Amino acid sequence: MKTRIAVAKGDGIGPEIMEAVLNIFEANEVPLEYEFVEMGKSYFDAGHSTGMTEAAKATIENLGILFKGPMETPKGKGVKSINVTARKVWNTYANQRDFRTLNGVQTVFSKAGIQINMTIIRENIEDTYGGIEHMITNDVAVGRRIITRPGSAQVIRYAFEMARRKGLRKLACGHKANIMKLTDGLFLETFYEIAKDYPEIQASDIIVDDLCMKLVSHPEMFQAIVLTNLQGDIVSDLCAGLVGGLGFAPSANIGDNISIFEAVHGTAPDIQGKNIANPTALLLSGISMLRFLGLTGHAATIENALLYTLEKGVHTGDFGDRATKSSNTTEFAECIIANL
Ligand code: NAD
Repeated sequence: MKTRIAVAKGDGIGPEIMEAVLNIFEANEVPLEYEFVEMGKSYFDAGHSTGMTEAAKATIENLGILFKGPMETPKGKGVKSINVTARKVWNTYANQRDFRTLNGVQTVFSKAGIQINMTIIRENIEDTYGGIEHMITNDVAVGRRIITRPGSAQVIRYAFEMARRKGLRKLACGHKANIMKLTDGLFLETFYEIAKDYPEIQASDIIVDDLCMKLVSHPEMFQAIVLTNLQGDIVSDLCAGLVGGLGFAPSANIGDNISIFEAVHGTAPDIQGKNIANPTALLLSGISMLRFLGLTGHAATIENALLYTLEKGVHTGDFGDRATKSSNTTEFAECIIANL
């Protein structure tokens, strides 16, 4: 019995990396059936204000899972990002990004033998991302930051549940409550309130600037961190850098009814159409989607093939000259298929 999911190929390098990933899934006979949906910059340009057709929206809401490539944000004032809109429309309130050391991927830490295995949970809906901004005078712009108790509670509870599921011992809350006493203060207060329901998990908090310093000096200190939207956005890109860059950063946007799996990186217009993009981040996102769907055997087989391929030094061009064998997107996917 195949599980039906919605797939949006995305813009820029999206179609190239999506094809690579779906070919790997097909080679492993993953029991998924794809409904390709109309979503992305061209649909925005065609007049769909959310960047997707009504039919696409209905399909995604019906199936509950969207596997998507990166999408270009149309430029201009008053235009909302398709990605931010999708997260809001479907209340995918928790953004989960898993970062870990990948053997064969050189980083400043791999030389020192430091192993990173850490999850960042970022609140995905509130904070400054409502884009509520206005000019008071020509020289003064004002933006509103909205943090609510229910909005904080749903993402914090998700983070504790995730920690319990993974058997983690620690969960930290990153914040700036020393300065933003009401907004970050509310997030932090909610964190410790919910922590009481999870006595087996050691809850702690850390000011976000101190967190950044510790992440770049001792990343092995952390197992999981939950943060508000903007701080989580910045910290999670920092963590992508710790494990080798955006090409290795997967992401899941989790909601109660709909979940979206995608790479952290964007459409990479500078390398679009060249067949040199790294599909690893999208593949890692796809692997977490398979686990989410209970297809754990397929997830493990594909993950092992990916790790083996990277370890053997088969890399796409974004590794620079550190790769033993540099491949294009198609060859890289073929190598993973051969190693399944
Ligand atoms: P980007 O992530 O597209 O590119 C940044 C740099 O990283 C570029 O040099 C690019 O070539 C490289 N890069 C990114 N992914 C790569 C990959 N898989 N393999 C090899 N190299 C890779 O960021 P940007 O240029 O700031 O954004 C371009 C567009 O993407 C914008 O319209 C932005 O809004 C959009 N975007 C979309 C998403 C999403 O759909 N979730 C996320 C971020 C940005």
